[in-house]
Parts: sequence; structure tokens; C-alpha cells
Amino acid sequence: MIIADQPVDWARALESIKTSVNPHIGSGKVADYIPALACVDPNKFGLAVALDRGDMHCLGDADESFSMQSISKVFTLALTLKQIGDELWKRVGREPSGSPFNSIVQLEAEQGIPRNPLINAGAIVTTDHLISAYGGGETGADQAMADLLQLFHRLADDDNISIDRHVAKSESDAGSRNRALAHFMTSFANMANPVEATLSAYFRHCSLAISCRQLARAALFLAFDGTDPVTGEQIVTKKRCRRILAVMMSSGHYDNSGDFAYRIGLPGKSGVGGGILVVAPDHGTIAVWSPGLNRAGTSMVGSIALEELVRQTGWSVFG
Ligand code: GLN
Repeated sequence: MIIADQPVDWARALESIKTSVNPHIGSGKVADYIPALACVDPNKFGLAVALDRGDMHCLGDADESFSMQSISKVFTLALTLKQIGDELWKRVGREPSGSPFNSIVQLEAEQGIPRNPLINAGAIVTTDHLISAYGGGETGADQAMADLLQLFHRLADDDNISIDRHVAKSESDAGSRNRALAHFMTSFANMANPVEATLSAYFRHCSLAISCRQLARAALFLAFDGTDPVTGEQIVTKKRCRRILAVMMSSGHYDNSGDFAYRIGLPGKSGVGGGILVVAPDHGTIAVWSPGLNRAGTSMVGSIALEELVRQTGWSVFG
């Protein structure tokens, strides 16, 4: 439950966010491990807030699609928990890693069990489980991704969300580290499907192209106990929703998770495309996008915008 003293004056809040981010636009380092991300204009900035009845407040490039990258890990986690339940926690933990998103070091010490589902290794195991729930292998991967995409279309009430095949191919071409993580986990018997089948699904969900407006709307169920407040569709149970938010709070930003919780005080998830999704329980969701990243792969300007947003709204899970 969030304590916010008074109704939010959105025109004022957005104006103040704009003033706060303006001097910083373009700062940070744009991800350059694949050409499709490296060539994104660093001066882009968009923000969208979705509220309980689906009302939206948007700023800047809120309708421009960007690469979702690791924010997709939240949705694959939700879909996997819906499909297979707590079985997932036998193969992945729920502790913050304190390590970079693609780190391999902890995996050996911890016998191939990734720390949490929001780092690459954990998301790969989660995806592996998910495709098994759809029959496994390449066919299971295709079906799981088709279902995930349909879920996005339903949640955002917008069929214009797609998997960018060009980005997915580049992810695969540059995917040696993710392949290493997956093979390493196979050696500990923590993968049920062939590495390439699981990774083909993982690379695809990282490559979803989505706008801030679509993302904030699609994630609204997370702010309302697992049920989309507009359509009434239950995506996950209330208990699971709380648990997803707990994992986002403790592990949503890799080795930047503590600082993010300190500065923003709301559960969130970042992606190296420059997007950040934040959930304000009982109030709404915020999606922000600006491509320049800090050292942990979290959007620099996006974080500044969110700091100002929580200052303006008083939203915090800490009362
Ligand atoms: N596609 C990226 C990877 O797998 C996602 C990383 C991220 O957004 N932090 O490495």
C-alpha cells in the first residue's frame, strides 16, 4: 500500500519532470553490443504513467518503440509462474546478485542455480521452464513466444507490439556470453531443453519493440494485485503479484538494485535498451525510456525522471 497525501497534479508533475531531465538529456552510454541498439538517438526521452482506469499521462517520445530488452524478464516470469507455479523456484533463487546482469562467477559456486529470475542466467532458466510448459524444444519456444506476444497485445490493447526479428538475430549473433551461461547451467542439469531452443525464445523476448505508453499499460496488472484493472483479466494471483514485485525491488537493476530502491523506492526493472518499468502498487505503472545507461545498464535520464516523479507524487512502498 502506498501512502500519497493528495491527488496528483499531473500537468505540474510532468512539467517538473521535464525541467529536471532537460539538462541531462543525452547523458550516459548507449548500449553498443549490437548495431540496432548502438544507432539509437541518445537524445530520446519518453515517459508514460498508466493509472487504474487505464488513464495515461505521457511526456516526450512516449509513443516511440524501443527495445524492451531485460524488462521482458518480468513478463516471462509472470507467464511462467502462471503456467507452472512455484516449481520454478527449485531452479532459480530470489536473492539479489550484486553482480552485472551477465555475470557467470556466482553460477559455479552456486551449482548452476542462478540467484534470481531477473539476471540473464535466471531469465534463461525461466524461459527454459516456460518453453517446457508449451511442449519444449523449438516448437515449444515458438508457441510460448506467440502466447507472450498475444498477452502483450491483450494487456496493452494494442496489436502494434512486435518482436523485432532484426534485433533478435543480432542478439543471437552477439550471444556468446548468454550461450556460455546456458551451457554452464546445462552442465549442472539446470536446463531441460536444448540451449539453442531456449535461447531462441530468450533472444526473441528481449527483442520486443514497445513504446512507453504500451509498456505502462501492459504492466498495469502488476499494480493491481495481478489483475488488469481495466479488463478484469487475472494474469497472476495476488500472492504471486506481490512476490514478483518483491523480486523486482530486490533484483530489478542488477548491481544497481540497492541504489535504485534508495532513490526511487518502488519496484522496477531496467533494460539495456534504456527502458525502465516501475510499479506503484494500488496507483499505477510508469514506463520511461532514454537510451544512455549507467555502468549497471540502467537508464541515467530515466532514473532522474523517476526520482522527480516520486518526489512529485509522494509514491513509495515505504510509506
Ligand atoms: N539482451 C540483453 C542480454 O541478454 C539483455 C540485457 C539487459 O537488458 N540488461 O544480454
